[in-house]
Amino acid sequence: MTTNPLPNEADDHHLDPRENQERRTGEIGPVYDFIVCGAGAAGSVIARRLAENSVCTVLLIEAGGIDEAESVLDPGKWPTNLGSERDWGFQAEPNPHLDGRALSMSMGKGLGGGSSVNVMVWARGHRTDWDHFAKVSDDAGWGYDAVLDIYRRIENWQGTPDPQRRGMSGPVWVQHPCDPSPLAGGMLDAARELGIPRFDSPNGKMMEGAGGAALTDMLVRDGRRHSIYRAYVAPWLDRPNLTVVTETHVRRILFDGRRAVGVEIERAGELLAIAAGTEVIVSTGAINTPKLLMLSGLGDRSELDRHGIPVVRHIPGVGKNLQDHVSFGCTWETHEPMPPRNNGSEATLYWKSRPELEAPDLLFCQVEFPVPSERTAARGVPEHGWSMFAGLAHPHSRGEVRLRSADASAPPIVDANMMSHPADVEAARACVKLCRELGNAEAFRPYVKREAIPGEGRPADDDFIRDAAVTYWHQCGTARMGLDDMAVVDATLAVQGIEGLRVADGSILPRVTTGNTQAPCAVVGERAAQMLRHRHGL
Ligand SMILES: Cc1cc2nc3c(=O)[nH]c(=O)nc-3n(C[C@H](O)[C@H](O)[C@H](O)COP(=O)(O)OP(=O)(O)OC[C@H]3O[C@@H](n4cnc5c(N)ncnc54)[C@H](O)[C@@H]3O)c2cc1C
Repeated sequence: MTTNPLPNEADDHHLDPRENQERRTGEIGPVYDFIVCGAGAAGSVIARRLAENSVCTVLLIEAGGIDEAESVLDPGKWPTNLGSERDWGFQAEPNPHLDGRALSMSMGKGLGGGSSVNVMVWARGHRTDWDHFAKVSDDAGWGYDAVLDIYRRIENWQGTPDPQRRGMSGPVWVQHPCDPSPLAGGMLDAARELGIPRFDSPNGKMMEGAGGAALTDMLVRDGRRHSIYRAYVAPWLDRPNLTVVTETHVRRILFDGRRAVGVEIERAGELLAIAAGTEVIVSTGAINTPKLLMLSGLGDRSELDRHGIPVVRHIPGVGKNLQDHVSFGCTWETHEPMPPRNNGSEATLYWKSRPELEAPDLLFCQVEFPVPSERTAARGVPEHGWSMFAGLAHPHSRGEVRLRSADASAPPIVDANMMSHPADVEAARACVKLCRELGNAEAFRPYVKREAIPGEGRPADDDFIRDAAVTYWHQCGTARMGLDDMAVVDATLAVQGIEGLRVADGSILPRVTTGNTQAPCAVVGERAAQMLRHRHGL
């Protein structure tokens, strides 16, 4: 391994974390063994796991800032990050399938990435998701049984022990909500009324079968957000072989022929080239990752030519296969104010729109305040109320990320293309129907005054569905893993035909998992680190 030529390099594990990082980031070295781009849900895991081996130097580069803000750390304040400097604030193209609506597509910017601005829900993905990934990558290491091992290793589960599925001593603190709102209990009772079984946790047996309802598992510890960055990187900031830089933008990957040899960064207005002695890992999230690959000369030849970008390798799948869960919020007015508790989303439900399906295709997260779309808000938002984020867990529609220009500071074109597939419209009808049945169930009578959106007596027709559709913020799939020509990475997450470069984040998921996506992204990080360590004998 190369060494980072910093002065006073000491193999001392008792440095003050802040002083250590101030010193390291003040003098960024010209070369590191591993450069990890993006300190989000996957990148944080990779940087930590690589830095656990003291023989290698790791540089973790984050475009956004630090995570020390109440809007990040107070679990109830997550909505205040939307549209702030902690949000990339992507805007999808106007969508003809949504009556021309251009949806906002927030993604986290700053240490922790999405895991520092999200709703803190921990959801593992269904058995069938992982078994599908094993099949398309021809690697059993991506299958459910293998991934269960990873989950057992990374979780510090605080609920009822389930040794077959849950770990209790890993870095990721996972707990049930403390003293949940009566609305969460209402949701579980409403599910029971409709014959949907209740489970102790959404992350045990429930994710192996037909679905059910449960209190949410969440990344909250001692009343504070426990992001993936806090779980993995924060305890390692005192290490001499780990450097974490913020407010630093990776503009492109540098190549020698078809070998990635470093990155070009922009920091405090200056451009700088930093060499990677061993590998570059791209973990910049499902919208910025294809953008960075294309700016670096990896993508569809015609797209790169259009922007005058020299082609390093024609990889047509870059930016294709964009997937996301789509949600259709319904809202109820409560008799009196019922302030949200914890993260304001304490109950979840997965169910099938058609009984013959292999796995649940509907995903519900209760939100303890109204969250209408900009269109459905016109139907009247109650002063006191709650919404159901009722969404499609297995959408068939596929979108695309393209370059707007060769300028690294320009946002890419995000053609989310939601609801373009007729099967999604069909599933959406079932989704909204079930949502209304739940919200109008007997169990909610003590709290609910009336259905506000869609509204009592109003049809939840296709117009409502088009007006209500919003992102669940689970963008993924734009540099997908597989063996075919449209795949971007192989089972080891190495970019096709390129040496020394891996992609490891939500982009590589062949399809969006059944449920919220940060836990699967953490697993992608763990798998990437495993493979890097194996490949380089670490
Ligand atoms: C509002 C919101 C709510 C959500 N709620 C939940 C939830 O409750 N539960 C759940 O499981 N999931 C949730 N998600 C989704 C989840 O957070 C993401 O799926 C997950 O964080 C994606 O992980 P990632 O590693 O792919 O990318 P990210 O976590 O997005 O990390 C990518 C990182 O790379 C950085 N970056 C990008 N470009 C560059 C560049 N050029 N140079 C340097 N750095 C760069 C970004 O700033 C970011 O920090 C939510 C997301 C949002 C936005």
